[in-house]
Amino acid sequence: MIAVGINGYGTIGKRVADAVREQPDMRVRGVAKTSPNHEAELAVENGLPLYGAVEDRLDLFEEAGIELAGTVDVLVADSDVVVDATPSGIGAQNRELYEEHDTPALFQGGEDAEVADVSFNARSNYGEAVDADYVRVVSCNTTGLSRLVAPLRKEYGVEKVRATLVRRGGDPAQSGRGPINDILPDPVTLPSHHGPDVKTVFPDLDIDTLGLKVPATLMHMHSVNVTLSTGATAPEVRDLLAGEDRIHVIPEDTGIDGAGALKEYALDRGRPRGDLWENCLWGESVTTEDGPGGTDLYLFQAIHQESDVVPENVDAIRAVTGAADREESMATTDENMGMGL
Ligand code: NAD
Repeated sequence: MIAVGINGYGTIGKRVADAVREQPDMRVRGVAKTSPNHEAELAVENGLPLYGAVEDRLDLFEEAGIELAGTVDVLVADSDVVVDATPSGIGAQNRELYEEHDTPALFQGGEDAEVADVSFNARSNYGEAVDADYVRVVSCNTTGLSRLVAPLRKEYGVEKVRATLVRRGGDPAQSGRGPINDILPDPVTLPSHHGPDVKTVFPDLDIDTLGLKVPATLMHMHSVNVTLSTGATAPEVRDLLAGEDRIHVIPEDTGIDGAGALKEYALDRGRPRGDLWENCLWGESVTTEDGPGGTDLYLFQAIHQESDVVPENVDAIRAVTGAADREESMATTDENMGMGL
């Protein structure tokens, strides 16, 4: 059993904890938190040992009547691997703690790539993370693009990717984020950071990305154009992508016309927190056109920012501990989380 410590029990941390608990070969050793909020209560209710992440905030837990199992350094020492799911920038500060205890750690996409030896997407470069000490599970958008690019590259070759990312302004609970009534080129300069981030997974990929932010909390939407090296028809590409376990090709007759309907669908299907771990890609949007530089492929996909990185974290745990190869890990993760819609 791999003992997994989770430092930061917020949007990503609590989802990773739940996914780890579903796996037959790992268990949550404990979770570390800074505040005795409702998520701390949830951890305790779920029977997870709770550790205080910041020394001078330990009193707050006592005042709130929440019992701590210890401080975060004990959790790190007692874990085989730590998933750092703290806010952007804090992970890099925590690296020293993991080094002190010689505990391998996973960081999240909000950290700079330099924080880790490998930027990770299970479908694309699992092998590079095997036995690595520090791995960064790339962001939600980079995960979504990497899952798409990996099979296309293998099957057809990719000359160039151009993607426009219409991004949610904030997660549902982030009441301070915006815009409230605006549409922002974000950043207004090109490329957005997403293209370079995808290149941390595929260093030789030619990719340009543009970003916008809109008043939405549900999901991101990608409008993607990929120039393929060899010819392909739309039905062939659709079949290829439908064969990917972490891509859900939305059939034409479902009436799912956007992110709202997708979230409703996930809730109706009993998905925890209404999570959509898969890229949700509209089958009807898959279009190909022969051009001078290759075959141009166009499509739309929606990415659930709060959850698509969760199965990737589970696989990264197996990679750094050398517990399984890519195929075995992804199959185990998917089966036990209930991947597939
Ligand atoms: P979050 O704010 O929801 O959760 C972070 C948690 O860490 C909170 O519970 C916070 O109290 C706690 N925390 C703060 N300082 C801490 C410290 N020093 N030690 C331990 N815990 C601390 O953030 P999130 O959305 O879960 O993001 C975590 C990481 O995942 C970031 O790198 C982010 O960029 C990345 N990420 C977020 C999303 C998303 O859409 N939310 C998607 C993909 C990746």
